[in-house]
Amino acid sequence: MQYRQIIERIYDELKDYTGHGKVAGYIPALSKVNPHSFGITVATLDGEIFSAGDSGGRFTIQSISKVFTLAMVSRHMGNRLWEIVGREPSGTAFNSLIQLEQEKGIPRNPFINAGALVITDRLMTLYDDPKKDLLTFVRELSGNSGLDYDKEVALSEIEHSYRNLALANFVKSFGNIHNDPQELINTYCHQCSISMNTEELAKSFLFLASGGVIPSSGQRVCGTRSSKRLNALMLTCGLYNESGDFAYRVGLPGKSGVGGGVVAVIPGRLAIAVWSPELNSNGNSYRGIEALERFTTYLGVSVF
Ligand code: GLU
Repeated sequence: MQYRQIIERIYDELKDYTGHGKVAGYIPALSKVNPHSFGITVATLDGEIFSAGDSGGRFTIQSISKVFTLAMVSRHMGNRLWEIVGREPSGTAFNSLIQLEQEKGIPRNPFINAGALVITDRLMTLYDDPKKDLLTFVRELSGNSGLDYDKEVALSEIEHSYRNLALANFVKSFGNIHNDPQELINTYCHQCSISMNTEELAKSFLFLASGGVIPSSGQRVCGTRSSKRLNALMLTCGLYNESGDFAYRVGLPGKSGVGGGVVAVIPGRLAIAVWSPELNSNGNSYRGIEALERFTTYLGVSVF
């Protein structure tokens, strides 16, 4: 009951809080979204769902997908993962090339684009049918077997991925990408185009609130230590160069995407997803972050 009241209050307080940012325009298909869409869902470990606003509206999860690919790859690689990617905040924009040369093609963390490309490259090597296997994984996590890629957004991003292709080629020149860069971009843009609503997104992050187990099915996705580590990476690197500010304001592990989604986890309790497509200058949903800050403030609970 408390959760319902809190998210309804937040929805009410923020429903007109628009016009302070822009929808992502660098992927043409993304710019077609209604900038004022606003949905919130809390999913608890007991299986309760509380939603407000446009919680049924689908959007592409973009960089939030990087948590799913990382979970799939780290299952196979264990500690060898840290030979191909770092685990420190970058302090740079999500699509920056700047550190890569100095750091010899080892991206600073798995959530900046360069790091995510390295992870998706290994996904392609480790899995027989990476696009299908990723979809199967996300369907299991969310409990919705109908989830799919948004082909229009995927193709639009592929057509305009000059920067991501540059990152992939650059990292490959250091030997840290094994597959063909164009094929890698194709897989990466598909993962970013997974289309979900806030309810599906919140549910699909519950495994990180429950030490690696999907609460509805009891299926183990990863060990408790791995779940702790994924949460720690989200806390320190999940919002790019705004990760420190997010930790300060919200106090939870979280992950954002340029589709306007932001998801956060209270370990032992719940996952919460917010969708609001207008982005701030860091590429993060400013209203999504504001909603999450109010959520932990009103609830009086965070990881700290
Ligand atoms: N598809 C986006 C890109 O690679 C993801 C970025 C994001 O969501 O932050 O540019």
